[in-house]
Amino acid sequence: MAMMTRDDYLASLDDGRRIFAEGEEVKDLAHHPQFATAIDSIGDGYEQNHVPGDDASGPYFKVPKSKDDLKVILDELLEWDMVTVTTSQGLLALLTAAARMRADHPELAQRIEEYFEYCKRNDLRCVQAITDAKGDRRVAPGAQTDPDVYTRIVERRPDGIVIRGAKLHISSAAVCHELVVMPTKNMKPGEEDYAVACAIPVNAPGVRIVNTSYAPREREEDFPVSSKHNMPEGFIILDDVFVPHERVFLAGETGHSATFAHALGLWERLGGTAHMSEFADQLVGLAQLIAEANGTEKINHIREKIAEMVIYATMTRSGLEAAIANAEPSPEGWYFPSELYTNAAKHYAAAEYSLMVRHLHDIGGGSILTAPSVADLENDEVGPFIKKYMATKEGISGEYRTKLFHAIRDFTADAYGGWQLVTMIQSGGGLYAQRLVARKHYDMDKAKRLALELAGLA
Ligand SMILES: Cc1cc2nc3c(=O)[nH]c(=O)nc-3n(C[C@H](O)[C@H](O)[C@H](O)COP(=O)(O)OP(=O)(O)OC[C@H]3O[C@@H](n4cnc5c(N)ncnc54)[C@H](O)[C@@H]3O)c2cc1C
Repeated sequence: MAMMTRDDYLASLDDGRRIFAEGEEVKDLAHHPQFATAIDSIGDGYEQNHVPGDDASGPYFKVPKSKDDLKVILDELLEWDMVTVTTSQGLLALLTAAARMRADHPELAQRIEEYFEYCKRNDLRCVQAITDAKGDRRVAPGAQTDPDVYTRIVERRPDGIVIRGAKLHISSAAVCHELVVMPTKNMKPGEEDYAVACAIPVNAPGVRIVNTSYAPREREEDFPVSSKHNMPEGFIILDDVFVPHERVFLAGETGHSATFAHALGLWERLGGTAHMSEFADQLVGLAQLIAEANGTEKINHIREKIAEMVIYATMTRSGLEAAIANAEPSPEGWYFPSELYTNAAKHYAAAEYSLMVRHLHDIGGGSILTAPSVADLENDEVGPFIKKYMATKEGISGEYRTKLFHAIRDFTADAYGGWQLVTMIQSGGGLYAQRLVARKHYDMDKAKRLALELAGLA
């Protein structure tokens, strides 16, 4: 199979998938306001990466064979659309899981590798569907009032399994090709039906995806960030979906139920940290620009806040670089990032993000929310007044400063900004998950030894 073009991708979405938004089933995804931008940016990605020839494949299917390869993938990732990123991260996570399962279940590891080749050959885009509805958080899957709140196997057939459940918050699910389903947490003996991982095409019978989105409906210029960067979030209903054996990666092997989530967590958190290091620099840039536009850039408390933001951006990038510098080889000879540095960096960047946004809001002032729209700037009667009163000094026009405020509002304080604030905390499994993994991989014995020496108790 050759790589897909934009047109191939658009045609591939017309496959009978069941997509819902705003109370209705959506038939023409490419022209619906909740999906059009996302589809356009994924189409751009296909077009930019397209190489003719039957043997060609995208760089997002590259498996890192060295630390340098890892660095290249991370640099490229910042240029890709979100679905291409999740495809790369998700498939690397699957390969990581395969490597960790091979000794116990060589046949499952081989299925995963064959699935990787299938996606590469057909240039497919995948998302990872982990997060279950989960019901009462303190109750085990099998003991819930409704046994379906954790995705489970409801039937085992000679040729495959039938699964039922729901996967929530799955970014871009409606506009990709494959749903990679994995258990949301570790399952214990007795919970075999919940230990299920598999791959399902989005158009498989029984799959329905209900979507939410922060895609703005207003004029693009008033939403300079979110009008270009938006993806639908999918609430995936798996209503007795049949999965053939060749796409089943786990079906009761509870000992490896957490292997997938841990592997995905690693790659997703690495990608998240890469994006956050980019965001951190953008926050610093916005803070400095608005301070200069307001004439406050030399005031002490403003300079201090910006310095704190600079340190945040630098530490986030340092964590990312340390995760790569301390990457480890898999038994297969490819490299995965350091668990300790990846999780510590992701936690730090996510936990402090809202403080950096607070600094930006503190520095910027109230016009972040109330700067008049571009349409008002263009109005013959009030436009000149807006330009007059929004201007501050020589070189800072009212129009420039108003547009800077629009960017800050859209990026940090409106629908997209709110989405980012929650996403920073919850993506990659939430802060608690990152703390657990960081602690597990930290050299506690060394720390204790040093403390004992310090105390003269060694
Ligand atoms: C925009 C966005 C995009 C996302 N994209 C994806 C995606 O593509 N694929 C995917 O699989 N998931 C995705 N997620 C889901 C994300 O991983 C989860 O939101 C996160 O794991 C938290 O789960 P939850 O939302 O069910 O909240 P909850 O599980 O209810 O967690 C809320 C809080 O309660 C705590 N908590 C819950 N249960 C326990 C317990 N038993 N013991 C101790 N503390 C507990 C948590 O640590 C957390 O602090 C996305 C989330 C967002 C917001």
